[in-house]
Amino acid sequence: MLRDRKRVIGTLEERIKLHQAAGDVLQRMSTSGLFSEEDIVSLQTAILGFLREPEPRLLGICSYSRDHRKATNAGERTWRILVKRSMIHDNDGELEATLYHEFLHAILGHDEGHGQAFQNHEALWPLGR
Ligand SMILES: [Zn+2]
Repeated sequence: MLRDRKRVIGTLEERIKLHQAAGDVLQRMSTSGLFSEEDIVSLQTAILGFLREPEPRLLGICSYSRDHRKATNAGERTWRILVKRSMIHDNDGELEATLYHEFLHAILGHDEGHGQAFQNHEALWPLGR
């Protein structure tokens, strides 16, 4: 139920920080060698934004595209990724961890959910070298 929760666009500065963080996360994922370059590149064009507010429960969501089962890469599989805006200001690493979590959903797909492969990959964050 959506009730009266407002859509959140965020300020230009907040959106820059979101996209900067997403770029940093994708760079780490690329450097790790754990993911296909096609998936990483395809996620460069994923729509990123903020969850409606107030949002007391979720840190982020990955919404799949209508044709996600036919998609051949993560970018095609993904409609958009939304995160909780307050994380932009916290600077405690939770924004990056959440973006990684949502990118993993994009790569591993709807049917994997939070399954074993997902958990194994998530445990590797921050992909330290
Ligand atoms: Zn999840």
